[in-house]
Amino acid sequence: MSFLKPDSSIEYIKGVGPAKAELLRKELQISTVEQLLFHFPFRYIDRTQFNKVKDLNADGEWVFLKLRIIKLTEQGSRKFKVLVIKASDDTGNIDLVWFRSHAWVKDKLIPGKEFLVFGKVQNQAYGLSLPHPEVEALDNLNEIESKQKFIPVYSTTEKLIQKGLNSRAIARITEQLVQNFIFEDIQENLPPYIIDKYRLESRNTSLKNIHSPNTLQQIESAQNRFKFEELFKFQLNLAYNKSKRKNFQQGFLWNSAGESFTNFYNHLLPFQLTNAQKRVIKEIHTDLRSGKQMNRLLQGDVGSGKTIVALLIMLIAHGNGYQSCLMAPTEILAKQHFQGLNELLSNTTIKINILTGSIKGKERNKILEDLQAGTLNILVGTHAVIEDSVQFNNLGLVVIDEQHRFGVEQRAKLWAKSKQLMPHVLIMSATPIPRTLAMTQYGDLDVSIIDELPPGRKDIITRHIKDRHRMDLYKFMKEEIQSSRQVYIVYPLIEESEVLDIENLQLGYEKLLEYFPLPQYQISVVHGKLKPADKEMEMKRFVDGRSNIMVATTVIEVGVNVPNATVMVIENAERFGLSQLHQLRGRVGRGSDQSYCILMSADHIGRDSQARMKIMCETQDGFKIAEEDLRLRGPGDLSGTKQSGLYELAIADIKSDEAILLAANKLANIIIEKDPLLDQPVNQLLKKFVMQSSRKIELGRIS
Ligand code: ADP
Ligand code: MG
Repeated sequence: MSFLKPDSSIEYIKGVGPAKAELLRKELQISTVEQLLFHFPFRYIDRTQFNKVKDLNADGEWVFLKLRIIKLTEQGSRKFKVLVIKASDDTGNIDLVWFRSHAWVKDKLIPGKEFLVFGKVQNQAYGLSLPHPEVEALDNLNEIESKQKFIPVYSTTEKLIQKGLNSRAIARITEQLVQNFIFEDIQENLPPYIIDKYRLESRNTSLKNIHSPNTLQQIESAQNRFKFEELFKFQLNLAYNKSKRKNFQQGFLWNSAGESFTNFYNHLLPFQLTNAQKRVIKEIHTDLRSGKQMNRLLQGDVGSGKTIVALLIMLIAHGNGYQSCLMAPTEILAKQHFQGLNELLSNTTIKINILTGSIKGKERNKILEDLQAGTLNILVGTHAVIEDSVQFNNLGLVVIDEQHRFGVEQRAKLWAKSKQLMPHVLIMSATPIPRTLAMTQYGDLDVSIIDELPPGRKDIITRHIKDRHRMDLYKFMKEEIQSSRQVYIVYPLIEESEVLDIENLQLGYEKLLEYFPLPQYQISVVHGKLKPADKEMEMKRFVDGRSNIMVATTVIEVGVNVPNATVMVIENAERFGLSQLHQLRGRVGRGSDQSYCILMSADHIGRDSQARMKIMCETQDGFKIAEEDLRLRGPGDLSGTKQSGLYELAIADIKSDEAILLAANKLANIIIEKDPLLDQPVNQLLKKFVMQSSRKIELGRIS
């Protein structure tokens, strides 16, 4: 075989051929040699380090064993057969268990033969077992593999496995390639000053070692190199684009806060602003005075008072002669914003209106006319404001509430509505996120944080009640309803199963009726299967105080404000993530009465669930909760991170590679500060980074 080049097709690697090449292209988007080389192993089997059966006890631990097969037995009925294989090393016995599709296992795992076995230990009452482990016959390893100390493990797909391209097969193909590839063909992409400063391994050596390592140290330095490269590229892009926008993206210049703001601030504010609110207003105003377009994230825990800040900023826009638009993710929220803001503005000449999907005909046309004529100053709305027919006279500011509900493209459409410059953008989010996540998700936005709640807020008393004490809950609810307060009961959305959700909720509702019978008690029920109009009506019944209890799936998660609702009951609380629990709890504690959050769970729950309940009962600090969430679950599971639309990280992990992320972030900022457009000769390699991914970031900018 002649030597392959980085852009050669993988078809020409020995053992691949056109059919497998096509499969790999379809399933893993790998068509060139270079792409295959950048399909990194996500783990290695260290063949120098076997676990011993006698040492196993931890439930859930990943282990690697060398076992001899003793005996195969099949158990269970004909329909549901379980294959149990007894195996042993010289220290003890363990069962390998298959619950499905075990024809190939039976053929392969012959008693007396030795196998390498990798799997996750289950330690239960009946003893130790390894369900569905990976197995490889010792005498089945080829010559290269039997010399390898570390066997790389690659991700693959169900389809590829069916066609024989499991991790091991991919490893063999890759090893073939490694043997027939000139690694010098891979160009370095980091300048020498960075390589030296961070003592990084060169790109080509790392690439070879990551697939074919001889020592643990080689694995580590290769991974380290690519993690750094990945995170640095990411951070450099964010820093570059942020700096470009701040330095070069023209924006409306609003030098003075204007009369509308001053008048309201001095005479109409319903309460004293907190220091945090004052500070963020100053930060925002600094942007508006800079002549550059603002892109700022306003973070503040539920109830921290973001709305009044948004209003004051919209007043600055008005005073400078521009229209504003406030976008909310749901009709109910938009209405609440509109009612609240309308009341606050009642003693001013400022015109505000609302546009949602349900506003039609004459009413809608009138709004559109006023908007285009410029006689309407502030428009509150839902997605309806994005439609092409909605044209502003001079849109200067867009405020987006609860940003994670809006898709990137929807926002892009809104921006296009300004005929002159891009409007200033303020994104409000009640989801506190840890610093490292903020760096990756919002790295190109400026961030202001309201880290103080308005005075006089009572802590929300949070209790965890197990199912067997459910009567305590009902008794407590009755007392609260007796004192004319209202109660939310929330059921979890079971992913991918709307039917189950509603069944779950329906059962709960029926049980509830036994203890809270009609007509003495009124119960509203809201779930995703209801028609919007019915949902709206049920919500309204509760908002107006005509029902005592609101039973809902998580649809009420986003910002509704019912000050008289003092109890939040979360059913199956063990199934919710921490941030979600925190958001839900934020729905109560809005009025002056003592509020409560009751976490209902099964009698027996897992350790992680128990930990979540404990954190919720102990603290109300959203940032602390977000940190714990990241610690317990990892970033991939946090709400919003999957749809962040920015980068998918191939090798780095925000949680475990925090130190690298911080270093990459710091370096990126220093470089961009010194050389904002990356024009200096030493930075020419880096310029390629930002040019390659400019489209991705184009989208990132507006998120
Ligand atoms: P969120 O940040 O969750 O959007 P809101 O803006 O809805 O919070 O504010 C929550 C409640 O607190 C509202 O009823 C609002 O009027 C009130 N509020 C906001 N700021 C203050 C303040 N500085 N002092 C007293 N009450 C305030
Ligand atoms: Mg809000």
